[in-house]
Amino acid sequence: MTGSNKLPGVLIASGPWQAEPWADPFRRHQPQRPLMIWPDVPDPGAVHYVLAWKPPSEAFRDLPNLRAIFSLGAGVDHIVHVPDLPKVPVTRLVDGDLAQRMNEWVVLQVLLHHRQHLAYARQQAASLWREIAQPAAPEVRVGIMGYGELGRAAVSVLRPLGFNLAAWSRTPKDDADIQTYSGQDGLTPFLARTDILVVLLPLTDETRGILNRSLFERLARNGPLGGGVVINAGRGGLQVEADLIQALDAGYLVGASLDVFEPEPLPSSSPLWLHPKVVMTPHVAATSEADIQADVIFRAIRDFEAGQPLRNVVDVSRQY
Ligand code: NDP
Repeated sequence: MTGSNKLPGVLIASGPWQAEPWADPFRRHQPQRPLMIWPDVPDPGAVHYVLAWKPPSEAFRDLPNLRAIFSLGAGVDHIVHVPDLPKVPVTRLVDGDLAQRMNEWVVLQVLLHHRQHLAYARQQAASLWREIAQPAAPEVRVGIMGYGELGRAAVSVLRPLGFNLAAWSRTPKDDADIQTYSGQDGLTPFLARTDILVVLLPLTDETRGILNRSLFERLARNGPLGGGVVINAGRGGLQVEADLIQALDAGYLVGASLDVFEPEPLPSSSPLWLHPKVVMTPHVAATSEADIQADVIFRAIRDFEAGQPLRNVVDVSRQY
């Protein structure tokens, strides 16, 4: 406690997102807890926790009693690169609602390409009644890039649909019931057996630009869809836009679904907007619903203050 009956304070630095919904559970359940919304920080010494989404670096400055930073999303790339980040634990959101939302988006996009919906949409526009040969799901090799919380959740919903699944991660997995690959050595064989690549990687120095021409060229070309498909809900910085367009135009990629871009919003001048093989959504695959996730963070702080360890702490040196 700080002072007589004051609880440790919370600062919300939610960038482009509205702060009020994130303040709600604190106001409702603990009106005595000091609550500040960046840039209005009248009592920096009272701030023990920062709830952050794309925070300015100044938001962390001169907070002598800061104990933890809570990312308002599953990713922490927007925090770990802040210059002079205070050396306190950084946690991220890991939650069933987020995973469920991402699962819906991933299944939608995988099925859209598997069932050749872009081609049927073009046929519909031309009033054309023509059947396109349809492979069975087990003939289609889906590769999940990033076998963490969301990658594993995606596998759990794609498996019952019958797809031939594999996953790639940084470190080897011995607890997987699908084929897994890891590290640079595992990347080429993983890509060679993948028709539909689902990307659920974090953005780090190691993964930035990983979706480039060399990677697209290594995807399977002998599959039933006639080329590779790239589905990216990780981060926009993973993909090299010009290489993606080149691969689509050259034909060895037959489709792409993108939820993330760099920069966001994607400028109207980007050729991705009008590309006939590209399906786009504006970073909505799995939004952090403040109504739900503010409670998750509220409970995490309450449990931490009751002596429990913080959950979902990221390794800042690893950047995820
Ligand atoms: P996790 O940290 O649980 O999983 C990350 C996975 O990526 C792990 O399997 C990890 O490997 C792997 N990975 C990290 N770096 C590398 C590397 N250099 N080479 C190979 N594999 C690597 O994260 P989540 O599953 O919870 O989330 C993943 C990302 O999804 C987030 O970071 C965020 O960017 C994005 N996201 C996007 C949303 C949207 O709406 N579009 C919503 C939510 C999240 P290992 O298992 O060995 O550690």
